[in-house]
Amino acid sequence: MSNRRRFLRQAVFGSLALSNPAFLAGKTPPGKTPKGALPVVIATWDNRKATAAAWEILKNGGRALDAVEAGARVPEADPNDTSVGYGGFPDRDGFVTLDACIMDELGRAGSVSCLQHIMHPISVARKVMEQTPHVMLVGEGALQFALNQGFKKENLLTDNAREAWEKWKITSKYKPVINWERHDTIGIVAIDKANNVSGACSTSGMAFKMHGRVGDSPIIGAGMFADNDAGVAACTGLGEMVLRTMTSYLAVEELRRGAHPQKAAERAIMRIIEKMPEMAKENQIGIVVLDKRGRHGAYSVQPGFAYALYQNDENKAFEAKSYYTK
Ligand code: ASP
Repeated sequence: MSNRRRFLRQAVFGSLALSNPAFLAGKTPPGKTPKGALPVVIATWDNRKATAAAWEILKNGGRALDAVEAGARVPEADPNDTSVGYGGFPDRDGFVTLDACIMDELGRAGSVSCLQHIMHPISVARKVMEQTPHVMLVGEGALQFALNQGFKKENLLTDNAREAWEKWKITSKYKPVINWERHDTIGIVAIDKANNVSGACSTSGMAFKMHGRVGDSPIIGAGMFADNDAGVAACTGLGEMVLRTMTSYLAVEELRRGAHPQKAAERAIMRIIEKMPEMAKENQIGIVVLDKRGRHGAYSVQPGFAYALYQNDENKAFEAKSYYTK
């Protein structure tokens, strides 16, 4: 087991064992936090450093939009996170290409895809939302826009990521692996004290993907969706499966129809399993969902999907319930 996975397991299991008797009984407790406890922020995987950064903003009455951007920037700048921003594994031609999207309480959205050389694609996505009449910019155009906005051009390929790529080239086998490091994409969703929701998602995509491949993460409604009348959701995992079912949008629509976030998460994942049963057997999708009352849900296709939740001044990691079990 890699250090990162071991760390993830220890961090998750350690915090759960200390804080949660339900976990000791083999059950995880999505939805057990007090109803209506605002603010709240959830991130995919054990991104507790990201939820902590978001909490700094939320606890002082700051805006959910600022909180999710601040949260997403944490793994983007972390060279040891090989699935997001700086240090992200490159595509099969050796290029680090980044995808990100963001959405605010006004229903505005911004997105960038296949963006190279910029450490914080989430902040570029926010600029697309706020400074242009568009939702999405891709590739060279996204880079030009970022540079015009004052972002710095940087080399994002670390020695570690280059070595991993060199090693991968020996066999060049492309097969997504469930819960491997390549699934550390951050989806982060929040509600602030003013009861407004926002969401963000940022990734370097599947490791060693085809050059030009875009997954779910920058696609509004797929990797993330926010609607201030209902709630907000974000996904991680094999983007092709999310793209085919618009998983985040589906979960938020379930909230709109009155579902508890846990039910909304489960129904969105079930749609993937119903539509793509064979792919679902071998791949992971995880989703986190928040409703307007501050209740949350999380669910995944495969076991091993962790999420970080900051609420009531506590920052904890949990393992979500899953369709398949160990
Ligand atoms: N969803 C991302 C993608 O398909 C990958 C991930 O979540 O790890 O690009």
